[in-house]
Amino acid sequence: MGQQTVNEPPVVEGPATQEFAPEVEKLINTVAKFTVLVSQKLPDDVAARLKELAEEETAPMAKMIYSTMARNQDLAWQLKRPSCQDTGLVQLFVRAGTDFPYLDRVDAAMKEAVARATKWSPLRLNTVETFDEYNTGTNTGSRSPWIYWQTIPDSDSLELDVYLAGGGCSLPGQGKTLMPGEGYEAAVKFVLDVMTSYGINACPPLLVGVGIGSSIDAAAYMSKAALMRPVGSHSANPKAAELETELKDAIDRIGLGPQGLGGQHSVMGVNIENSARHPSVLSVAVNTGCWSHRRGTIRIASDLSYELLTHKGVEL
Ligand code: SF4
Repeated sequence: MGQQTVNEPPVVEGPATQEFAPEVEKLINTVAKFTVLVSQKLPDDVAARLKELAEEETAPMAKMIYSTMARNQDLAWQLKRPSCQDTGLVQLFVRAGTDFPYLDRVDAAMKEAVARATKWSPLRLNTVETFDEYNTGTNTGSRSPWIYWQTIPDSDSLELDVYLAGGGCSLPGQGKTLMPGEGYEAAVKFVLDVMTSYGINACPPLLVGVGIGSSIDAAAYMSKAALMRPVGSHSANPKAAELETELKDAIDRIGLGPQGLGGQHSVMGVNIENSARHPSVLSVAVNTGCWSHRRGTIRIASDLSYELLTHKGVEL
């Protein structure tokens, strides 16, 4: 199969908000085009799991919904349109090599890339300033896009997860710090309570991210980071990996099915991330990705060449 390409971006109207060096311009345009791609085409792992789940369903309604989802994806890519009307809020996980040559420009470049992707895709204008309650019109704003930073020693490249966090799939996001002595059973109960009460809001089948560790902020971060892991991957910790499978089976038994209209599977998978914790504190948090889990990973080298890790066979 030949290389597939994303839309040629239109000329950006109006004056640039900032002036960037030519190399940084290239970085910005690569990230902007990748964000456009993520809005139009599901990553390979999600597309493959949806196909598997569709094949395992027997109920006519569930089969029909999966075939509508597949047609929606095909048309989005053919027509170069966002694959869901809610293009979400852009969240970024940056893993920057300490020797990446444009390190000091990455934050500004990411913000500009999101503003350009908003025009090029186009992405729905979803960014509203809290308290002031106005739409920024660019999908950028105070601390937006939200960027999680990690520096990687002895590396001169930059790896980036782009995630379009929709409203519906963000709704089940919750966390709780359990009382000492409640144990892992209470963490499981918390996850299942969230799934039975809020899971249906997030357009199943879901990718469920669970963070377990010390303090609620750490658990919340890990539950979102878990959604960046491929569908079907497992925690390196054997006990966490076992719990991933058990939770997946348990949530499947709720019977949400595609779009919550019933079926054999409620989830594409459950990914758990964990950290060490204070012995008297166990915090747990949940985040969900919907069936249209628009997340992509790109690796950008120091010469600004790139590799798409989640969308094989596609060129920007
Ligand atoms: S939950 Fe996902 S598929 Fe459903 S409307 Fe929101 S972004 Fe779209």
